[in-house]
Amino acid sequence: MLEITKESIEKAIEKARITKPKVKVIQFRLYNVTNKTTGANYEVTFTKIAGRKFADCTCPATKVCYHIGASIGAHIVLAEQMSRQTV
Ligand SMILES: [Zn+2]
Repeated sequence: MLEITKESIEKAIEKARITKPKVKVIQFRLYNVTNKTTGANYEVTFTKIAGRKFADCTCPATKVCYHIGASIGAHIVLAEQMSRQTV
């Protein structure tokens, strides 16, 4: 599990902006990311533990990768919608 910090996610988002992978929402906290050039396909999951954010990706990267950077945008939008619904 990789912890999402401001520094690690900023780098990942920057990389995602260049790579522009395709993000598909499977369900809340679970996203499918496809590299349009290579066709490589990975699953990203987000977890929140004691106020800290973590993510997992099925790719071989050992740090916050651009798949996580690409899907966090969709995740934030969904998380906001979910929190509004429960109020
Ligand atoms: Zn990845």
